[in-house]
Amino acid sequence: MRIPVIAGNWKLFKTINESVSLVKELKQLVANSHGVEIVVAPVFTALSRVSEAIDGSVIHLAAQDCYWEEEGAFTGEVAPKLLRDAGCSHVIIGHSERRQYFGETDLTVNRKTKAAIAAGLTAIVCVGETLQERESENTFTVIETQITGSLFGLAGNDFNHVVIAYEPVWAIGTGKTASDAQAQEVHAFIRQLVSRLFGQSVADSVRILYGGSVKPDNVKGLMAQTDIDGALVGGASLKAESFAAIATFNI
Ligand code: PEP
Repeated sequence: MRIPVIAGNWKLFKTINESVSLVKELKQLVANSHGVEIVVAPVFTALSRVSEAIDGSVIHLAAQDCYWEEEGAFTGEVAPKLLRDAGCSHVIIGHSERRQYFGETDLTVNRKTKAAIAAGLTAIVCVGETLQERESENTFTVIETQITGSLFGLAGNDFNHVVIAYEPVWAIGTGKTASDAQAQEVHAFIRQLVSRLFGQSVADSVRILYGGSVKPDNVKGLMAQTDIDGALVGGASLKAESFAAIATFNI
């Protein structure tokens, strides 16, 4: 059984106090949720205060990125073990905004993913095609390259600490969601690819999230698809009510 994951990516929004207020509100709204792993990803500076605020709740904490070295002369970077120290259990790696604006590549995603797993974090590894890649019918080639490069060299049991997020770039922050069928088609492709690369039992157990304009009114249709095991949510995670409605899609 794959436990669904609903993760909120707060991106570069909210001060420490705003983050704490949001998570406190969310904590109450999802108190009766069950059978779902709920994750929030605030900015780095809010992590440890949000960690204190979610103590004893069903909410897990993620960072939005990490570096692959444990320590050293790497100004501006944050190591996975420091994210653990701040209370994180998860980290988002390879989000399309990092690929687009900060030079993230499949190689750096791969290094970060391995380092995150080694530190005991669950890596939420993001892949997704641009509009141009979809329109030129290269979606599957792009996804195959990203998955193969990002997860290169992982062993079967590493996948206990890996969640894959399929986020078509054209659907992120645009209000354009992939249709249930479009999303399911790529998710099924990813699961088959994981089976080919890492074996059927890894493919059967790995959670594959959909991301791209997920809202309370489209989450149920997406979650009804065979290979969709959760959602990575941007905009709608910035309000407790809408994120809670998504996180409790199964109630
Ligand atoms: C995201 O940031 O990963 C995302 C999917 O954003 P949005 O839900 O706003 O499209």
